[in-house]
Amino acid sequence: MRRSLPLGLLATIAILTVALVPGAAQEDHAVTIQSMDVRENLYVISGGGGHTAALITEDHGVVIVDTKLAGWGQSIIDTMALITEEPITTIINTHTHGDHVGGNADFPVAVEIIAHENTAARMEETEAITGQAHAQADRTYADRLTLFEGRDQIDLYHFGAGHTDGDTIVVFPALRTIHMGDLFAFLGPPYIDVNNGGSGVAYPDTLEAIVAAFDDVERVIPGHIPPPPGSPIYGSSACRPSCSGWSGWQEVVNYAQFNRDFLDSVRASHTAGRSVTEAIAALDLWSRYPAYGQNRADANVEAIYDELDR
Ligand SMILES: [Zn+2]
Repeated sequence: MRRSLPLGLLATIAILTVALVPGAAQEDHAVTIQSMDVRENLYVISGGGGHTAALITEDHGVVIVDTKLAGWGQSIIDTMALITEEPITTIINTHTHGDHVGGNADFPVAVEIIAHENTAARMEETEAITGQAHAQADRTYADRLTLFEGRDQIDLYHFGAGHTDGDTIVVFPALRTIHMGDLFAFLGPPYIDVNNGGSGVAYPDTLEAIVAAFDDVERVIPGHIPPPPGSPIYGSSACRPSCSGWSGWQEVVNYAQFNRDFLDSVRASHTAGRSVTEAIAALDLWSRYPAYGQNRADANVEAIYDELDR
């Protein structure tokens, strides 16, 4: 029997900012916990790095997706302790960046850490946790890994390079919810971490493979995008119809198309012999994607040129 707060109380803390003050050094480690769906015990904890997802399973304790910056793991532990007595059993790291794995070190040694095999190798060199054996991956996979069954089922997928070469998306099939990690982190050109195997040429392929693989995802947890204005909850029934689509599945579909359009434009410029500067000027995407920022457009054109020249 799961021990957790009564549903009514959970509903009242659908959004709850937790300012935890265990010591002076951590007094600004405030996080916000939001229910994805109070009936299903899936939460998003924001602040201190990438979005953390927390699923309170029926039979396997609490599963955490990403652990924020170094020093923020305890905030996750303390926040979950407010709403369940179930122990945290499992961490899934979506990729190697320090704002997603840094908190690993704060969790008990018994917690199993799971990551894609490329990410596991890169985590050993990730500054936030390097040399900390208990913060490293205990279990890896190559293409797909399924944890648990029934309502507890969690599917991990790797569809190829993009943000890094070890990106995992995490699907909660019974909840029709997906955590995209930093493959879908911001609205605009993505951060392509070429030093960690990221690829601007593969990026649209990877997103299109994700779009093609699922047809019933309702809710999306992006790596960093804040919830829609006026709603604490990503694409849930609580904000329909006004914000359906925002950070919902259609937003991922649009994002795949944006990255395809971006690559097509850069590739055409490359083929035409344009300089990087000319290729940047030739990008004609922004009227079609008015909500998208243009940060990193220049850097991504350069990164894609480098890849095409190789
Ligand atoms: Zn990242």
